[in-house]
Amino acid sequence: MSAVALIRGRAYIAGEWVATGTHLDVLDPATGERVGRVPRCGAEQARAAVDGACGVFEQWRSLSAIDRAAPLHRMARTMERREEELATLLTREQGKPLAEARGEIRYAASFLTWFAEEARRMYGETVPAPSADGRIFVLRQPVGVGVAITPWNFPCAMVTRKLGPALAAGCPLILKPAEATPLSALALAAIAEEAGIPAGAFSVLTGDRADAADLGDALIGDARVRKLSFTGSTAVGKKLLEASAATVKRVSLELGGNAPFVVLDDADVDAAVAGCLIAKFRNAGQTCVAANRILVQDGIYERFRDALAQAIAALRVGPGLEPGVQIGPLIDRRAFDKVHALVADARDAGARSTVGGGQAEAGGTFFTPTLLEDVSADMRISREEVFGPVAPLTRFGSDAEGMALANGTPAGLIAYLYGRDFSRLVRGYEALEAGMVGVNTGLVSTAEVPFGGWKESGLGREGSRHGLEDWTELKSVTVALD
Ligand code: NAP
Repeated sequence: MSAVALIRGRAYIAGEWVATGTHLDVLDPATGERVGRVPRCGAEQARAAVDGACGVFEQWRSLSAIDRAAPLHRMARTMERREEELATLLTREQGKPLAEARGEIRYAASFLTWFAEEARRMYGETVPAPSADGRIFVLRQPVGVGVAITPWNFPCAMVTRKLGPALAAGCPLILKPAEATPLSALALAAIAEEAGIPAGAFSVLTGDRADAADLGDALIGDARVRKLSFTGSTAVGKKLLEASAATVKRVSLELGGNAPFVVLDDADVDAAVAGCLIAKFRNAGQTCVAANRILVQDGIYERFRDALAQAIAALRVGPGLEPGVQIGPLIDRRAFDKVHALVADARDAGARSTVGGGQAEAGGTFFTPTLLEDVSADMRISREEVFGPVAPLTRFGSDAEGMALANGTPAGLIAYLYGRDFSRLVRGYEALEAGMVGVNTGLVSTAEVPFGGWKESGLGREGSRHGLEDWTELKSVTVALD
């Protein structure tokens, strides 16, 4: 068992653990207690991180794929071995139930394992040339120094989903984690250092919300950074895409969703309810893949609603470290107020909350799991990401009407479809405008799946072999023989 301390109060820049003289407190959303304190970084630290990344780039990319993979495998094994410590830290700074945090650590480690394996398959191509004495080869080479900006809802998995492919492809990575959850990111840096990832190949710059734009500007404005990989809100993603235009960086964006959860009238009600609980209430509804609009066909509506209402009423709310808790607190007061406002707006517009509807007994930012009925497509709650434990139900008639409702937003991250008839399901998943579709399942996220969205939900893919390709550039080499 390794002795390396996982709670770090310093940023990790070019292989050094750095204090900056100013700091921010990291709070437990369940209790408001301080979990840790991390430095506020700015342009100076951003420059040092880019210097370090540029300094190690040649050395790192020149290693064999097997040698780049080895420390990634070691990192993954350490995460698996220290799952309990990492999960506890994650729950303390993020709030999700401990069982979910354990699942996130395993999920996060799986990206390192997957991309360590994929490093060995960064294949190029040989293309038949148009003349007998010509040869054309296509190489895949690392895109260069990368910057990752990640959200608070998956403090480990969103990091490794970027770190794994970046390092596997040969790219150093500079990470700016969210203000609310920097401790998990720093714990990963400590594990990376111990695993033998060289100085500069992975840096972590912490900062509070007021620092985010400055840090983002300093990193994205630096022409030496060749790729930005961002996961977060669509509004911030659009700004960063614009900022990246000045140096024509490669950009991957994993942005907001507004997932439809479509229940056709021949669906298995129990299976659909079980899937809906996972898709809607995991992480208290604070996931980009959360079922945001639950669209239920007339013929099954009452049966599905009654079963879902019963299941929602039984969900246990409380601090994530308490055994048996299924719904933790929302991340902060701002998030709580937003969910509250969306529910109030829906009620004013004619929706009814038949289960829950407001603050939970635990107080603070705990929100009662809620079922809203009579929700229509024009309500704010149907147009915006709820990011809370609220299930809005909308009824539809024909399959075509259901698909039109499902596709009727600018988001296209994921859609869920429940039913039994094979032909209807095939027509349904082909019609859905989303990067991912779950058919009779409420959980699609694994390292094997190309994760990403259509329309305003993003650019590029993470996970799968496509996730590695997104960290490479193609180079064609045309050779004329004598
Ligand atoms: P957010 O406000 O966009 O923040 C995401 C990250 O961007 C944080 O690290 C944040 O730092 C940083 N940031 C904010 N403004 C910035 C700026 N001007 N320049 C540079 N960086 C900036 O999103 P969030 O509320 O943390 O996360 C929730 C959102 O993420 C939801 O929309 C969710 O759907 C989306 N998400 C998408 C996926 C996916 O794979 N598609 C996965 C998870 C989450 P601070 O925290 O310091 O403000």
